Amino acid sequence: KPASELSTDFANKHITPGIGRVASDLIIERGKGSWVWTTDGRKWLDFTSGIGVTCLGHAHPAITAAVTAQLEKIVHSQVNIAHSEAYVRLVERLLPLMPDPSLDTFFFTNSGSEAVENAVKVSKNYNNRRGIVVMQGSYHGRTYATSAMTTSKTVYSAGFGTSIAGIYPTPFPYASQLHMPADTPTEDLTKLALSHLSLLFKQQIPANEVSCIILEPVLGEGGYVPAPADFLKALREICDKEGILLVFDEVQCGFGRTGKMFYSEYSGVVPDIQIMAKGIAGGMPLSAIVAKNEFMKNQKPGSMGGTYSGNALACAASAAIMDVFEQENILDNVNARSAQLFETLHALRDGEETKHLIKDVRGKGLMVGLEFEPFVEPVTASSIISGSATGATKPNAGASSAPQHGQKPRVKDIGSRVAKKCLEKGMLILTTSVFDVIR
Ligand code: PMP
Repeated sequence: KPASELSTDFANKHITPGIGRVASDLIIERGKGSWVWTTDGRKWLDFTSGIGVTCLGHAHPAITAAVTAQLEKIVHSQVNIAHSEAYVRLVERLLPLMPDPSLDTFFFTNSGSEAVENAVKVSKNYNNRRGIVVMQGSYHGRTYATSAMTTSKTVYSAGFGTSIAGIYPTPFPYASQLHMPADTPTEDLTKLALSHLSLLFKQQIPANEVSCIILEPVLGEGGYVPAPADFLKALREICDKEGILLVFDEVQCGFGRTGKMFYSEYSGVVPDIQIMAKGIAGGMPLSAIVAKNEFMKNQKPGSMGGTYSGNALACAASAAIMDVFEQENILDNVNARSAQLFETLHALRDGEETKHLIKDVRGKGLMVGLEFEPFVEPVTASSIISGSATGATKPNAGASSAPQHGQKPRVKDIGSRVAKKCLEKGMLILTTSVFDVIR
């Protein structure tokens, strides 16, 4: 049967509705570079990159060649049986790219969520403490444990009953999350976030019972917000003092997305464990944690692994990507494209026709968020239930409200409407977070 005869009605009927998607009336068939084609023959500019994954674009010839060569050699050599050549080669390739030489002990697995779970296991195995501190608005995955650590949207845990205990969210230095104006200086946001953490230690869990503080150095699904360097430095100091492990989840912001290989390089703050996925293998299922050896060395043999952990095809793809990063100066390109994108977004932010709609343009490299002015309703019982009292928006609502006398027009869910308009014009783009943000 030709691809054009595949039916979205069939797909929507027989594939779980639990998968939310931007467009349920499209089936993507192939991709090349920044473009994808759907089975109906249409071509789309792909600003989603498979949610921050396809760091070299679709069907990069170097990845295709590396995977093909590996396919002909060996597909599966289970890592709990013996070392695998592709795995060992990849460790060799990644080691010098890590933000600090102290991050030298690796474990590969299949998805970001599994990598997060393993980082938590390593941390707990090291200090055997009960608490995990996460940032409010963070996303760490959809598995049972990581969905408990995910606080960007309730949809990821709603309806799943009792969750794992011992997760303590604390606010990220993000203006909207802290109910502060968008132009609040980052020093003030950092101070506010740290004072919340201090309260957490006084009211909910003492610092010396916290196993790890885990955060995305650039909040991804929570709104595309880069952490100020001072915040990361303060966390490093607190962790050192209290024997807490500092874990950076660079699943979405790693591998060049922010213009450096890892976002932590901007601040020089070195985590104890770094989590990686997505861009690490450009779409092949691979994730990794890298830890300082002192934290990993006491893992009992057999406590880590998995049938497909560090599978050979994905490892081969990843090593090829690292070569291309160097050969094609990918980071230079990210920074050049970033300047181009920011120039346009700043013009929109400052433009007469658009400035009243745009609250903030932010990000680093090509991890860029555009936050729209929220449609804020007065705080009442019903606005709290609907989420609008906090500036949070309901997906796909899209209705305008009448402007009050003398006020700017208030518009609901601008991000979803912009994303829909982009789709109509042939561009795939994603919103993010409960705030009104496109990425
Ligand atoms: N951590 C972060 C920061 C992520 O963005 C994601 C995925 N969006 C994950 C973890 C989970 O990764 P996966 O979907 O591969 O399990």
